Amino acid sequence: MSKNQEIIDKTEKYALHVYNRFPIAVDHGEGVRVWDADGKEYLDFMAGIAVYALGYHFPGYDEALIDQTKKILHTSNLYYHQPLADAAENVCKATGMDKVFFTNSGAEAIEGALKTARKYAYLKDGKNDHEIIAMKDSFHGRSVGALSVTGNAHYQDPFKPLMGGVRFAEYNHIDSVKEQVNDRTCAIIMETIQGEGGIFPADPAFIKEVRKICDEKDILLILDEIQCGMGRSGSLFAYDLYGVKPDVVTMAKALGCGVPVGAFAVNEKVAKNSLVPGDHGTTYGGNPFVLAAVNAVFDLFEKNDIVGHVQKTAPYLTKSLEDFKARHPEAVKARRGVGFIQGLAFDESVPVGQICTKALDKGLLIISASHNTLRFVPPLIITEKEIDEAMGILDEVLEELG
Ligand SMILES: *Cc1c(COP(=O)(O)O)cnc(C)c1O
Repeated sequence: MSKNQEIIDKTEKYALHVYNRFPIAVDHGEGVRVWDADGKEYLDFMAGIAVYALGYHFPGYDEALIDQTKKILHTSNLYYHQPLADAAENVCKATGMDKVFFTNSGAEAIEGALKTARKYAYLKDGKNDHEIIAMKDSFHGRSVGALSVTGNAHYQDPFKPLMGGVRFAEYNHIDSVKEQVNDRTCAIIMETIQGEGGIFPADPAFIKEVRKICDEKDILLILDEIQCGMGRSGSLFAYDLYGVKPDVVTMAKALGCGVPVGAFAVNEKVAKNSLVPGDHGTTYGGNPFVLAAVNAVFDLFEKNDIVGHVQKTAPYLTKSLEDFKARHPEAVKARRGVGFIQGLAFDESVPVGQICTKALDKGLLIISASHNTLRFVPPLIITEKEIDEAMGILDEVLEELG
């Protein structure tokens, strides 16, 4: 039996089946490629779902983690430590926010952001009836709070009742947002670029108008940059593309480039009027090990001008996707997204899941998103040559599918 199959069988025997996994066992990675347990090589265009911004074993990254393991992996948040001091500064400077809280995941960053918004409103009027407006087709995570603001019936329905006080509006439809605003609204939460929902960037006019509504009514704008943040859009945070600042920003995925870490950061107004000691906490969140990774990521992003590389190379991906669409006019209906967070929307008749599986056979890791979308979230260090390689494989796949 192949090593892949051995691992698959053992996993399926003991691990709860909550994923329909691709039929390979990933063994190791190098640069923008990974190898499975039988030694087959793959070009990686999904990067651990937008996590591996720097690819695998980027020079300097492993060393920073190894150095930290020799000092201390974990301490409690009851103590100060250098990685926290540095990471907090790094995130505040990068986001333009004032204070940050580190978590273990994206969902936990959302939980913290929601609690922050509730506390902010509570301190203003002492009431417990505050509402949050979220967007349809959004994705904010699987914990109950995060799921409550995730506008996807398929994810939500089996787990109801969820957190109350959530209203949904139509993304990029300002009137739909206005309809949901009332005196109890404490926050509007949305992704700057919707990821899981099918790669839909916010319309500039929409996000600016949402910001205006929030300013007028002292509603907090929470922008979820867990997927689109950390340079993926061609700007360190996607809201910078719009000239809009949130009151609270959430991040995770590429923040640690492979270690489990997330964060929410808040502006000064929120920092001074929300969570205080006793309100929130986490045992592991932001421990020295993961924050050593975060600091290495910020350091390596700067030294290697990773965002500059995205700005230089992403137009080539855009052009390649547009050319692909022109070559397959029946199958591909639209290209969406910016930078290295892009998607190709396929016609209903084309099974995007099957495209991913066939691409895997041909040595390309790529994943889908909602609305029959093929999702392109490669490592940010990807080159034009590797983009050509991926598009070549996808051409073959489409030919085979007829
Ligand atoms: C992945 C994701 C989350 C959830 O992050 P987890 O680390 O899986 O909990 C939240 N929001 C967005 C936009 C995401 O892409």
